[in-house]
Amino acid sequence: MPEAERIPRPDWLKISLKTSENFKEVNKLICDNSLHTVCQEARCPNIYECWSDRTATFMILGNICTRHCGFCSVKKGIPGAVDPDEPDNVANAARLMGVDYAVVTSVDRDDMPDEGATHFAITIRAIRAALPDCKVEVLIPDFNGRRELLDIVLDERPEVLAHNIETVEALYRRVRPIAVYEQSLRILEESVKYREEHGANISTKCGIMLGLGETREELMHTVGDIAETGCDIITIGQYLSPKRNALSVERFYTPEEFEEIKERAYEFGFKHVESSPLVRSSYKAKSQWEKVMSQLVG
Ligand code: SF4
Repeated sequence: MPEAERIPRPDWLKISLKTSENFKEVNKLICDNSLHTVCQEARCPNIYECWSDRTATFMILGNICTRHCGFCSVKKGIPGAVDPDEPDNVANAARLMGVDYAVVTSVDRDDMPDEGATHFAITIRAIRAALPDCKVEVLIPDFNGRRELLDIVLDERPEVLAHNIETVEALYRRVRPIAVYEQSLRILEESVKYREEHGANISTKCGIMLGLGETREELMHTVGDIAETGCDIITIGQYLSPKRNALSVERFYTPEEFEEIKERAYEFGFKHVESSPLVRSSYKAKSQWEKVMSQLVG
């Protein structure tokens, strides 16, 4: 149990640490291509399961973030120059892993004039060039609410545009001190608007963590705010403190509570709700997207 978790982890959050041949191979591909993954950097509890299934979430634009979110274990500071080979290396690793659904996220790059939007676009293009049938999901930062940067990414037509609100508005100062709640909502809203303006087949997704001190009322209010943007998918998972000095867990929700929250979230009109203790935005991402697609064709 990380030191920051002062309440003992309940049984339903105890995970198997078993590695497999696939796990070792994915690990080697990531190292050989000098890549970063959010699976490692964020100390995701699902890493053994996801990597054994040969899925990973690539983290581009380096591994140092310009923001100082209290829940996150990614290093903070002044990032270095962007590696121009990174898009091709991501594409190469995705090809060797044999993925047909790639998830790409990044650190925040408030230091760059385009906040990394062009690099996202180049990475999507590189994946498509290496794997023409591969679907791509991007989990983007808020781009400080700049629609022109969002458009650079959306012009590449990722299958899913994800942006996480992470927590309720009342906790933003403590959890995401540099981010602005309304701005994150706007990114989702503008993505939906773009889809309508361009007739683009792009689904939108948003994630939230529970257990940071939110009340049930605040939580459902936030779920409602996300739904109002027109967002298709919501992911709801338990916050786990990733390291010493990270925010501690205020409360562990039971699997039954996650089920109950899922039912209530569906009432807001989402096409898909993924809600259970170990859910993360990219957890079983392909299956989340497929569920939305099946509703559109069915
Ligand atoms: S849930 Fe996402 S971040 Fe976590 S291990 Fe799986 S792919 Fe990586």
